[in-house]
Amino acid sequence: MIELDGSLGEGGGQILRTALALSLITGQAFRVENIRAKRPKPGLMRQHLACVQAAVTVGGGVGKTRAVNNAGEAVQIGETSLTFMPDEICAGDYEFAIGSAGSCMLVLQTVLWPLLMAKKVSNLILRGGTHNPMAPSLSFLQQVAPYFSGSGEQVFEAELRRHGFYPAGGGEVLVKITPQAQGVMAIDLMQRGDLLDAYAECLHAGLPKGVAERELVVVQKALNLSETQCHNRALRANEGPGNALLVVLKYEHITEVFASYGNKGVSAEQVAQNLLKEVLAYQAHTAPVGPHLADQLMIPMALAALQGGESQYLATELTEHSRTNALVIEKFLPVQFEVKEQDGGVFVSV
Ligand code: ATP
Repeated sequence: MIELDGSLGEGGGQILRTALALSLITGQAFRVENIRAKRPKPGLMRQHLACVQAAVTVGGGVGKTRAVNNAGEAVQIGETSLTFMPDEICAGDYEFAIGSAGSCMLVLQTVLWPLLMAKKVSNLILRGGTHNPMAPSLSFLQQVAPYFSGSGEQVFEAELRRHGFYPAGGGEVLVKITPQAQGVMAIDLMQRGDLLDAYAECLHAGLPKGVAERELVVVQKALNLSETQCHNRALRANEGPGNALLVVLKYEHITEVFASYGNKGVSAEQVAQNLLKEVLAYQAHTAPVGPHLADQLMIPMALAALQGGESQYLATELTEHSRTNALVIEKFLPVQFEVKEQDGGVFVSV
């Protein structure tokens, strides 16, 4: 039984998701205390419980894989400790719904790597938020999918059926997860290469007129984009209210996606400024891997290492998220992350 402390480092939900994924992959049970201890509302929230339930389901269902509290009962919302006992990973067709606007992309983050270790293709229907703050957006995952395996082959494809924003949710995404015959190949992301394309995109539904234009004009000016590099994408009104402002930078060897979200009481200009802060920080750097991709590449890098693959990347920075993720991965797998300052960024290898 691997013992984990959910208050470690970042102390958020990712400790749990990484543990669920690696527990299924390795067959090792774990127990975690102090779940999400450093969040304003600690314990399992609906979206985290959905991740636990999805992990149980791909582990063969409640008769086989178990997720229980200290009393040995099925875990509930609000629980701060959990024991997870995995069985065999079952590829298949699954539907997972958060039941709120919580990010269903975080459910994908939980089951993606276990299902990639299975022998057959899996098809998922995910329901919940598709574009949420503090989570990878569908737009981000679609663009970075090719970098999740060094082979360059896309290990998953995601198709959006309906956007889901906080607080209404209701998003729907189809995901096809395709295990590769050669397993997970080593990742090597040390350079951006030339900038090939850059654009801004404003997704909006059910918002007052003019908000999208105001956001885009700020981004256009600051990043020196042309009209054709700014996409105003009005969505069906019943997908809202919601607003995601995105910037996509496509380089030869990497594509990075930055996002900020409209919120009550936050002006359109402020939404744009929040986004620009992240984009300009990335542009001021030469490292290819941004702060969010940095933590999400760590599981595939560790899995590639088990096959003898030596992965490395250069990141603009290494967040507490990434450092914590590395520690959790090292609890489950016989790998070690090496982190050092390099070229004004952070070099990570495993
Ligand atoms: P909480 O415990 O508050 O619910 P959480 O479940 O959202 O936290 P975190 O531990 O905060 O989980 O992890 C969030 C995940 O979402 C991380 O993998 C992080 O890299 C990713 N993420 C956050 N923001 C972005 C973004 N703008 N683009 C891509 N990925 C993001």
